[in-house]
Amino acid sequence: MDDLGDIVGSIAAQMSAEADRGRVADYIPALARVSPDHFGIAVVTADGTLHAAGDAQLPFSVQSVSKVFALTLALDRVGDDLWKRVGREPSGSAFNSIVQLESERGIPRNPFINAGAIVVSDALLAGQHAREAIGDLLRFVRFLADDDGVTIDSEVAHSEAGTGFRNFALANYMKAFGNLDNAVEEACKVYFHQCALTMSCCQLAMAGRFLMADGVHPGTGRPVITPERARRINALMLTCGHYDGSGEFAFRVGIPGKSGVGGGILAIVPGKASIAVWSPGLNERGNSKLGSLALEKLAERTGWSVFTA
Ligand code: GLN
Repeated sequence: MDDLGDIVGSIAAQMSAEADRGRVADYIPALARVSPDHFGIAVVTADGTLHAAGDAQLPFSVQSVSKVFALTLALDRVGDDLWKRVGREPSGSAFNSIVQLESERGIPRNPFINAGAIVVSDALLAGQHAREAIGDLLRFVRFLADDDGVTIDSEVAHSEAGTGFRNFALANYMKAFGNLDNAVEEACKVYFHQCALTMSCCQLAMAGRFLMADGVHPGTGRPVITPERARRINALMLTCGHYDGSGEFAFRVGIPGKSGVGGGILAIVPGKASIAVWSPGLNERGNSKLGSLALEKLAERTGWSVFTA
């Protein structure tokens, strides 16, 4: 393999020159005004080395990438009982789809579609005020990233609430089936703030380190979660992390990854690397177009597909 720093640098240069960059999400102004020209990449390896290129230090809205951190925290809080309320199967549907909730009696297919993430938010609430649960999640992500510069963008959170009719619908539907313990407004408030987490590629790659390290936080050497849970979260990222584009991502890239409509993707190579890429233009499934391409190139050049011997 070539020098990793050279690979990361050359992928960033190649992506910056790409003409076909996909469409930036435009359902809220804070996302619509982000230029599609950005591209950032950060790779933290198991020995703690960080390689970054392009706009790797620029904060962006991580959106659904946050579902990985919320799930981790919720599993730590409520344990495997969470799996009574949310499944572990790919949905094959759009991230905000409601259709499967009817036949599956309010149990979302997995924790990485919106319905599943709202159940996870409800579990994080556990009788607290939304503000406390949001504070817990923010502190947790800051700890994972070893960086107090991680923030929640309140403009994004308010816009999410103002336009979140589908998410309220999902929450109401699940509430009707008895799968939300707290008020719909509280669970959605936690979910909207979690979507508004704002991080750079460097911060995101740092925050993902525990998933490449059997659940151990490299900064403190302490376990964040058990090795078994880290392995299972990675499995869910591979099978469900890109919604109805998860099969295609596994086929092309072969690395567990979680995307968000802000154009970020967190990808984990167990034992080897935690990777974050960001390019705001999305493909037709709502996943970063150039982010996916960059990860495909990185996997090719490093041999990091989990399916490579
Ligand atoms: N805030 C978005 C929503 O709930 C997040 C979706 C995503 O990143 N895929 O619709």
